Amino acid sequence: MLPMKVDLHCHSNVSDGVLAPAAVAAYARKGGVDAWALTDHDEIGGIKAARAKAEELGMRFVPGVEISVTWAGETVHLVGLQVDEDNATLVQGLAATRNGRDARGREIAAQLDQAGIPNAYEGALKYVGNPDLLSRTHFARYLCELGKCSNTSEVFRRYLTEGKPGYVPHRWATLADAMGWIRAAGGVPVIAHPGRYRFDATAEGALFDEFKQLGGNAIEVVTGSHTPDQYATYAEVARRYGFLASRGTDFHAPGESRVEFDQLPPLPSGVTPVWHDWF
Ligand code: AMP
Ligand code: MN
Ligand code: MN
Ligand code: MN
Repeated sequence: MLPMKVDLHCHSNVSDGVLAPAAVAAYARKGGVDAWALTDHDEIGGIKAARAKAEELGMRFVPGVEISVTWAGETVHLVGLQVDEDNATLVQGLAATRNGRDARGREIAAQLDQAGIPNAYEGALKYVGNPDLLSRTHFARYLCELGKCSNTSEVFRRYLTEGKPGYVPHRWATLADAMGWIRAAGGVPVIAHPGRYRFDATAEGALFDEFKQLGGNAIEVVTGSHTPDQYATYAEVARRYGFLASRGTDFHAPGESRVEFDQLPPLPSGVTPVWHDWF
């Protein structure tokens, strides 16, 4: 029997993906996924529709979320898996975290206006599926529409990131708070795409140490947000720290992500999957 294909990191239009939750489920199934999590940024509003469609299609469903955290002055993403989407602590924590995105969006637009790109707030809103969750990704899609850049990665290189027009620093949740909300909802916190942060080895080690001290025991190893080299690097980190390993495309839109559902390799050997006792 073929091993189960598990994908535990995806976005719908409830955050910065383009497909509705049920359509992401169908797309994942078409890509061969057997067990699937929806992990929208700072939102659990898509979980019920995602679960219903996943079950209809015969996929195991894992309710999830990806929480924006500020750690050592940088944004770090924390995935929560197997969360109860009705838990009041989680629901309230996420609502507080989302708060402030709209004001940030208006500031991003003001900077882009200064850089000669007017009306970006209205332009980004055209791409928003959930008015509570205006993301830099929505600005990126609008800048592509204008022909300023040919893809969203180029937008992030030239705009929206530190030192570039449209970068507005933002204070997200603390690591301890985000872990607390996930735990309160019965979930498992997972450090998302650790290879994507601009930490040196010392800072990265401090993040893993603090996460472990707070009771964390899982990181993403194989993700569409890692390069293939990083799959091996973070498998080694997982073995060294005794962390469980997670896997997911970080899908946002067909053709927009680094890998599609049927292209992501399995976890390397010698790591224990975070889902080892779930299905
Ligand atoms: P926000 O939470 O609004 O700050 O937006 C963060 C989102 O922007 C991430 O979840 C990614 O989807 C996207 N993003 C960040 N950096 C890049 C990049 N270099 N290339 C493409 N997308 C990016
Ligand atoms: Mn995103
Ligand atoms: Mn992320
Ligand atoms: Mn993500």
